Amino acid sequence: MMKSRILLVVFLCFGLAVWAQPEPALSASQILHRIQKLKVLGSVLYIAAHPDDENTRLITYLANDKLYRTAYLSLTRGDGGQNLIGDEQGIELGLIRTQELLAARRIDGGEQFFTRAFDFGFSKNPDETFEKWNKEKILSDVVWVIRNYRPDVIITRFPTTGEGGHGHHTASAILAVEAFRAAADPKRFPEQLKWVQPWQAKRILWNTFSFGSVNTTDPSQFKVNAGGYNSLLGKSYGELAAESRSQHKSQGFGSAAARGDSYEYFKVLGGEAPQNDVLDGVNTSWNRIGKDGAAIEKLITDIENKFDYTAPQKSVAALVQLYKELDKIKSSSYWVPQKLKEVQQLIMWCSGLFIDAWTHQPYVVQTGNVDIQVAVNNRTGVPANLINITVEDQNLAPNTQLDKNKNYVFSKSIIVPLTKAISQPYWLREKKEEYTYTVKDQLLIGIPDVHPAYVAQVRVNVYGEDFVFEKPVRYKYTDPVKGEIYQPLPVVPPATITTSPHLLIFNGQQSTQTLNVQLHANTKLEGRVTTGLRGVKYSGPQPADIVLEKGSTKSYHFTISNIDNANRAYVVNPYAEKNNDRDTIAYALALRSIRYDHIPAITYFYPDQAVALSIDLKTAGKKIGYIPGAGDKCAQILERMGYDVTVLDRTAVLTTDLRKYDAIITGVRAYNTNEWMNEVYEKLMTYIHEGGNLIVQYNTSNNIGPLRAKIGPYAFNISRNRITDEQAKVKLLDPSHKVFNFPNKIVASDFDGWIQERSIYHADSWDSNLKPLLSMADPGERPHDGSLIVGKYGKGYFTYTGLVFFRQLPAGVPGALRLMANLIALNQEQ
Ligand SMILES: [Zn+2]
Repeated sequence: MMKSRILLVVFLCFGLAVWAQPEPALSASQILHRIQKLKVLGSVLYIAAHPDDENTRLITYLANDKLYRTAYLSLTRGDGGQNLIGDEQGIELGLIRTQELLAARRIDGGEQFFTRAFDFGFSKNPDETFEKWNKEKILSDVVWVIRNYRPDVIITRFPTTGEGGHGHHTASAILAVEAFRAAADPKRFPEQLKWVQPWQAKRILWNTFSFGSVNTTDPSQFKVNAGGYNSLLGKSYGELAAESRSQHKSQGFGSAAARGDSYEYFKVLGGEAPQNDVLDGVNTSWNRIGKDGAAIEKLITDIENKFDYTAPQKSVAALVQLYKELDKIKSSSYWVPQKLKEVQQLIMWCSGLFIDAWTHQPYVVQTGNVDIQVAVNNRTGVPANLINITVEDQNLAPNTQLDKNKNYVFSKSIIVPLTKAISQPYWLREKKEEYTYTVKDQLLIGIPDVHPAYVAQVRVNVYGEDFVFEKPVRYKYTDPVKGEIYQPLPVVPPATITTSPHLLIFNGQQSTQTLNVQLHANTKLEGRVTTGLRGVKYSGPQPADIVLEKGSTKSYHFTISNIDNANRAYVVNPYAEKNNDRDTIAYALALRSIRYDHIPAITYFYPDQAVALSIDLKTAGKKIGYIPGAGDKCAQILERMGYDVTVLDRTAVLTTDLRKYDAIITGVRAYNTNEWMNEVYEKLMTYIHEGGNLIVQYNTSNNIGPLRAKIGPYAFNISRNRITDEQAKVKLLDPSHKVFNFPNKIVASDFDGWIQERSIYHADSWDSNLKPLLSMADPGERPHDGSLIVGKYGKGYFTYTGLVFFRQLPAGVPGALRLMANLIALNQEQ
């Protein structure tokens, strides 16, 4: 009993996250590889900051050549990086990159963990990083993962001394080194000792690197050759590593396969130096668990020696015997439950036992039903009996003898109560703090993924021993093009609610605004429904009896007027309630589904809020042409500000008389993403010269994002200078300039309340016809003046700005809206 409970905890906390894909059946040579792995009791934990920081070649080598249990702890989920495959940002990008890491680990054989740290974007140094993250909080998470996973050796990607560049990188190394000691100290984070024991890893190494101009490797360092070939897998480690790394598609990290010797170099950060192998001095044999280990090792060697490539099922009886012997061992070593799990998997693979659990419903609804099917096939005919199949305490199958290669399919419809939790990723259940996720249940910390909503427990007796195989219930369907597809099965509420627009601006000229609320029925909705808004005064529809069919939507309109003119932002939350005689069911969440072919479908829920902003905002000029770039929401916000916005593509720019636009604004990275900007350069310059106004938001100028055209009428460079501190003090270099005076008077408080950062990709080395207007500095750095440069050309104006309007405008930051209005008004009569 005790042992099975431990197994369960191990499974829940650190089970392999293979649930989102069909579990692969292994071929005979792959099975032998796993049998060999049974003999190795050693583990490595790789630690860095982001998805993509990990060295997939080293992980592949450690997991598949050295056969160590190997894992990657990424402090963040990569929420702050750039997204090359879609417009998801922030927590949504973190959800995508979480799945990309899991996809990578399925290939390289590693496991995956995270902390609660939020990737808030670029950070120049670890001090800023720690201040934002709360160093003790993230250190406690690293310690928690170490105490759970118990690595023999910890490896960092980065040094503590800053050569890793990004502040998160250096912070990850500092935390790893501190956690290496703190995990062993019972006085540190003693509240964790209710569940785990202190753990001292043997050593901590830094995996030195050569990236671009920074080379921290040296032939004299301890090194291993990670470039070998594995004939059981039919691949070089450099090939597997490239496949793994190529899963980071949102970052454009498709990689070429490498073959041939390839060395990984290390420096020692703690513990004694290794001579031959990263695990030097660690007993990785079965002796590690005590005197009973030798007999276990002999059983495994025997299985390995007698393994028949043409009939792996011949090993099943011996594997069951091994399982029984291992289960009897009275050892406190965590290796016993770990290896029991591996042996059980091998029994399944060797026997060819097929177990699958699915539904044909793409999602299940609280208060609805789920029709679950489970199939079992004893494909090689080992002596086996199905004892039962349970899902949430419901039994699906009677005791059945499993004949050779016969399909046994069982089904059951299960009620989904209103109390069944919706499929919200655990790190998004509570409101996020600014720079960390909130996770109240300690046992969830570190876990990479969402738990499946339903798990089938399939109890099978094989050669006289009972095994419980757990299979997540997935949505299975056949796509006419892609074939059979498995997806996670989300639980959704009976109705979801969304709102539009997301920003309402009240500025005297606009004193009444309409907010639209949409109620979507995920199941038939019938009864008296009350809708309303929280956070603001409004008038709207009265409660009414409705019948809303499954899959349909009903719209409600609310009028908000006369918000006081005090430069305040009101967060507005829409809600709906269905009132019965007895109870009230509230609907307050929207559903977001993210789909890409290389990862399982992602579902999460969020309150779809609007912001009602009262602001002293004057505008001059009306018609704006907007040339989209990599994707931003500025055009919608400009409309909310009262402008008429026309989105311009290549044809529109080439064929329209641009003089009708008071200003033309380019979206973020327009000169990186639009191949055709060169074709419209002359026309845009003529537009300015004749009295127009061109405002260019940031672009990059580097290998990944080269410029496709000249930008302005005068020369300037684009640098990597940026101001990451969103509270950095801002100095107006020429307070009398029109930009700061018309139609809005820009004052110091206009730089209050900015989010995430001030500016990126500043201008540099600009022509004397361009004038810098703002000066700002990150803490401890010299000021930089390239965030906003403006120049007169002919009768018109040109502006280049690295100020992150694309973040500030959708967030309704008043000063940013006022400053943008002034940039648009540059060519207007004062
Ligand atoms: Zn990184």
